[in-house]
Amino acid sequence: MRHENGKDKTGKTREMVNKILSLKHKSPFVGTLIEAMSDAGCKVNPYKHICIEDCHSNFNIFGGFDSENNQVVLCQNKFDDVYLDFDKFAQMESLLSHELVHAFDHCRANVDFYTNPKHLMCSEIRAASLSGQCTYGSNLIESTLNAVQSYHKTCVRKAALRSFRALFPAWSLDQSYNLLNEVFYSCYNDFSPFDRIPLTKKQAELSYKAYLNRHRYKV
Ligand SMILES: [Zn+2]
Repeated sequence: MRHENGKDKTGKTREMVNKILSLKHKSPFVGTLIEAMSDAGCKVNPYKHICIEDCHSNFNIFGGFDSENNQVVLCQNKFDDVYLDFDKFAQMESLLSHELVHAFDHCRANVDFYTNPKHLMCSEIRAASLSGQCTYGSNLIESTLNAVQSYHKTCVRKAALRSFRALFPAWSLDQSYNLLNEVFYSCYNDFSPFDRIPLTKKQAELSYKAYLNRHRYKV
């Protein structure tokens, strides 16, 4: 079990996590994943499974998923000014959902993130796609569906490649890129537990609603 250091700061970050998880503020991405984890038999206890700690300041990493300890790790020292900056709040929201996608993949399948590069690449594609980190901003109204789809896909590919390379630094760019191409189609189109690829926050909201109502009409 990990320890939480720097109690005051940790408390502040913990408060923010609780706010994101609260019904009133729950992001449709985080909400869907928390529900799905529970249904898959891996109910998330925020105090046990979401760990807040100081991370090495040299690394450009804001968090991670520790599959050995079944913990999502959030780097509280990267979110110091989070209350002053709305973007950072949104950033933490998408970070949390990103790591929850890894947790979900770990829960539903026998994945091995540490030694199987295919598993990791696939989960990074899904995490980038299903966390909201690649949804288009508010200037979306002017955009066509095609533009939104292509923005999302390009963003997911870039993000997955970046995350993968941070964890497999010994791999060359070419090698990583080939693996990305090899698995992209099937992993990008596996959008479980969502009922569609949530290209926008609105779509994520619809998907979350559908998830919550999924048993309602069963007889
Ligand atoms: Zn990741």
